[in-house]
Amino acid sequence: MEHSYQEVLAHGAFLAMGEELPSCPEAEASLRCLMRGNAQYLEHRHNPSELSDLIRLTTAHEGQHPYAAVLCCADSRVPAEHIFGAGIGDLFVIRNAGNVLSPAALGSLEYAAAHLHVPLILIMGHRGCGAVVAALQKHRESGALGDLIAEVTLGIGHAHDPRQAERNNLRRSLEGLGGSALLRDLADRGKLGFAGAVYDIRSGAVELLLNEE
Ligand SMILES: [Zn+2]
Repeated sequence: MEHSYQEVLAHGAFLAMGEELPSCPEAEASLRCLMRGNAQYLEHRHNPSELSDLIRLTTAHEGQHPYAAVLCCADSRVPAEHIFGAGIGDLFVIRNAGNVLSPAALGSLEYAAAHLHVPLILIMGHRGCGAVVAALQKHRESGALGDLIAEVTLGIGHAHDPRQAERNNLRRSLEGLGGSALLRDLADRGKLGFAGAVYDIRSGAVELLLNEE
């Protein structure tokens, strides 16, 4: 599973700003760090990250400087920090069922990018996503859950295959980032990169989403 980080980041930049692709070495380093964390998780099956009193007190005193923002599913089998080997202060994580780019999720990502200066936004779907299955099977739900499934239904588009539906839903959230003037501006100035990925809840592997998929 060797993917070009540059290619992925270029894809993210493409979503934000058209044909001119700025390089964002910080985003590339951030993505590399995430993928290295996942590789270590796959090798050792545990999270060796910093959870000490010291890091807790240090971040409480000095503030947070996460190296990436991640929007992923609320599914309990998708624990973002663990699968990336991340600890306190490492990742700014937003989760909801179906990794929908809701106004609250987008606002949170804008906060992370503008105020915490994360160089990378990763949106991560996953295999076996219940929200995607519910949308595929046209489950009728009422209330806010119905609204959520309606969003995922828009995300999956015309897909019938669950894997394609997961990718479509992820891609919709990824493309939605381009609707933020604030995020676009940061990407235009080479300060922010975007990437998409799919997490396999069986193997534990994170697979980057590439342009052609
Ligand atoms: Zn899910």
